[in-house]
This record gives sequence, structure tokens and C-alpha cells, in this order.
Amino acid sequence: MKLILLGAPGAGKGTQAEIISEQYRIPTISTGNIIRAALKSGSEMGLKAKSYIDAGELVPDEVVIGIIKERLAEPDCKEGYILDGFPRTIPQAEALDNMGFAIDAALSIEVADSEIVKRMSGRRVCEKCGASYHTEYKKPGKEGICDLCGGKLVIRKDDEPETVKNRLHVYHEQTEPLKEYYQACGKLLTVEGQDEVADTTRLVLAKLETLI
Ligand code: AMP
Repeated sequence: MKLILLGAPGAGKGTQAEIISEQYRIPTISTGNIIRAALKSGSEMGLKAKSYIDAGELVPDEVVIGIIKERLAEPDCKEGYILDGFPRTIPQAEALDNMGFAIDAALSIEVADSEIVKRMSGRRVCEKCGASYHTEYKKPGKEGICDLCGGKLVIRKDDEPETVKNRLHVYHEQTEPLKEYYQACGKLLTVEGQDEVADTTRLVLAKLETLI
């Protein structure tokens, strides 16, 4: 299965991607994670991307298109993949089409902006391993500490309230038009994001069944 996950930042794409990944045994490719890893390693690409990420802006198309092209050429992508956070603009979608990696569907997880703001203000990540938690929905065993590696849980700079507002603006302006793009070629699936992750997962998996 070759799947794109669409949705506003904080709509739960990452969590659903992890679940689908396990269920269908295909890798998740998250451009956000790849860029953050590059940033952490201090690579040239990471340094270039930093100012965009911190401001909640999109990294230039040519940078992410290059990242995806390289990643999709790796052997683990042969049987399929889930793209989480790519494409985010029409030129990125066109570039993906032109690379010849035909996708089966683009699944959009719909969540209202007000709910997104609430969710993102509680999001915490481990500064060491990157695992994700939430002060209300996914609490760690010990407050402020990662269950997996014992690292400290922090607020991602781009989850700060002003940046979240800008990320939502950027989403509506540049990424949401992708729904029409994939609708036009009959590949759009939509799911209403639910309060409980498991409820959203049920809806997501039911939609994916229709592809098999
Ligand atoms: P994410 O974790 O997917 O929300 O991505 C975090 C940040 O990485 C975004 O706010 C963008 O600055 C950058 N980024 C990730 N994916 C893309 C993309 N496909 N196009 C442009 N920028 C991206």
C-alpha cells in the first residue's frame, strides 16, 4: 500500500501512521522527522531548515522533494509506504507524481482548528529519543520523563502557541488545496478525527480496507 496522510499539524497523522505501519508492515516516512534528525546532527540541510521550522513555515519545496526522492529509493519502500507530512504543497504533489511513485490513496484526517490548538498546547516530546506524549491524552508514567529512554520531556519550539497559529494558517493556505488535487484523481479518502485515538484508528482502518 502506498498511502499519503493529509491533515493539519496535530490532527494525529503521526500516531495513525505508526499504527498503519505496524498493521501493514510498511515504513512511515515523515519529512518532519527526517528534517528534525538532520537538524540534530547539525548537517547543512538541517541548519538551512531550522529558521523555517522554528517559525512554523514550510521548508522550500526543492529541499523536501530531494529528501523524499532519496528516501523512496531505499529498498524498504518496495512493498509500500506511508507518507506523513509530504506532500504539503501542490508542487510537491506534482513532483511526487513525476517521480513515478504512484500512490493508492490520500487519506485526510479532519480535525477542527480549535481542537488542534488544544491538542498541540499539551504535546510534549522527549528531547533525547523524540517519543511523543500529551499532558492529557498520553501521559508518561512519570511526569516530565520519557517512558522509553528516561529523557526529559519538552515542548517542541514549533508547538508554541504563536507558531501553532502560523502552522495552521500555512496548512489552510498551502496544504489543504491538496484535498482537491487528490479528489480530482479519485484518490481522496476522508476520516473525521475522533477524541479517542482508537476511535480514529477504527475509522482509518475501515477506509483502508476499501483499498484492498
Ligand atoms: P511535522 O513534524 O510534519 O509537523 O513537520 C515539522 C516542520 O518540518 C514543518 O512545520 C515544516 O517546517 C517542515 N516540513 C516537514 N515536512 C515538510 C514538507 N513536506 N514541506 C515543507 N516543509 C516541511
